[in-house]
Amino acid sequence: MKRAYQYRIYPTTKQEQALAQLLDVGRRLYNAALEHRLLCWKRYFHSVSYTDQAADLKRMRREDVELGQLNFSACQQVLRRLDKNYRAFLQGIRKRPRFKATDRFRSLEFRFGDGSGLTATRRLRVQNVGVIRVRWHRVLPEQAEIKDVVITRQANGKWFATFRISVPDVTPPVHHGPMVGLDVGLNHIVALSDGAKIKAPRLYRQAEERLTEVQQRYSLHRSRKQRRILTRLHSKVARQRKDFLHKLSRRLVDTYSLIVIESLNIKGMTHETKPGMSKSIHDAGWATLAKMLDYKAANAGSEIRRVDAPHTSQLCSACWCYVPKTLHIREHHCPSCGLVLDRDVNAARVILVRALGWDAAFGPRAEKHPALVG
Ligand SMILES: [Zn+2]
Repeated sequence: MKRAYQYRIYPTTKQEQALAQLLDVGRRLYNAALEHRLLCWKRYFHSVSYTDQAADLKRMRREDVELGQLNFSACQQVLRRLDKNYRAFLQGIRKRPRFKATDRFRSLEFRFGDGSGLTATRRLRVQNVGVIRVRWHRVLPEQAEIKDVVITRQANGKWFATFRISVPDVTPPVHHGPMVGLDVGLNHIVALSDGAKIKAPRLYRQAEERLTEVQQRYSLHRSRKQRRILTRLHSKVARQRKDFLHKLSRRLVDTYSLIVIESLNIKGMTHETKPGMSKSIHDAGWATLAKMLDYKAANAGSEIRRVDAPHTSQLCSACWCYVPKTLHIREHHCPSCGLVLDRDVNAARVILVRALGWDAAFGPRAEKHPALVG
C-alpha cells in the first residue's frame, strides 16, 4: 500500500537560497524541454518522447554547470512531469503545457537514497543543499519504506517535504460499530442518519469569511500587498479544511462499520444547482472527504458504500412517499405518515435505506415499510 506523509521543513537562509536555486534549475529544464518538444513538432513533425529527452540529459548536465547541481534522478523526474502533462494534452485531457514562471514551479522530486536521505538524527539531507531540520509532527508508520521525497515551496514561502512511502498490507480488524448514512449538507458539512449534524469548526468558517472579504477587496484594488495577504489566507483555509476533514473522516471510520454515501458527481452537480449551493458543496470539500474515507476505512475495517440517490431530499425516510421541498425548507414534514425530521437527517436516512433495504437499516419496523411490503 502506498501513502504520503507531509512535514514542514526549516531550511536555513543559506539552504533556502540553495533550494530556490535548484527549483529554478528544474524550472528552466522543464521550459527548455517543452520548447524542444514544440520546436521539433513545428519544424519536423517529430514527436519527442521522454526517452529521447532523458538520453540527452547526461550531455546537457556536463555542459550546463547549474543543471549538474540538480540530482540526476530529480532531473529525470522533471522530464517525466512534462511528459505526463504533454501526453494529457495530446489525449485532449488538458490544455497545452505552459512555460513555467518562477511562482508556477514549486516542487522537486528526489528518489530516496539518491540525492536525498535521512541522517541518524532524522534530518533531511538534500544533495547540494545540506542537512535540513524537519518537524516530525507525526511519526512515519513502522516498516515504512520511503520511496521518494518531494520538496515543495508553498506560495506563502513555507517549505514542506512529502515522503511517499510503501507499507506492507495488513488485514483490517473486524469492525463492530453501527451503520450510518451520510448526506452532504448546505449549512454544515454532513448530516448523519442517526441525527447528528457536523459543522465546520468556527475558526475555519471565520477564516473563510475573511477570505471572501479579502478576495472582494483584491478585485477592486489589485496591489502586491493585497495579493500576498490573499495567497497567505488561501493556504491557511486550505490547511484548516484538510486538517478538519482528516479528523472527521478518522472519527467516522472509527465509529461506524458501514458508511453509506451518495455517489455524487460534483462536477455535474455544481452546474445544475443554485449558485449558493455549488459553493458550499465545493467548500465543504465533499470529494476530499470521500477520498479520505475510502483509504482510512481500508485500515479501520470499515466499509464505504456508494449509492445512486436521486431525490434523496424529496423522499420520506419512514414511508417512502414523495414530499417535494425547495432548498429553503429546512424541515421534512410528511403529510402521509406524519414524520417530522430535519431535512438533511431525513435525506441521510433515505441514503442508508437505499443501500440496505428497510429491515437491515431499521430492524423491527421493517414490515411496516412499503418498499418491502409492496
Ligand atoms: Zn412519511
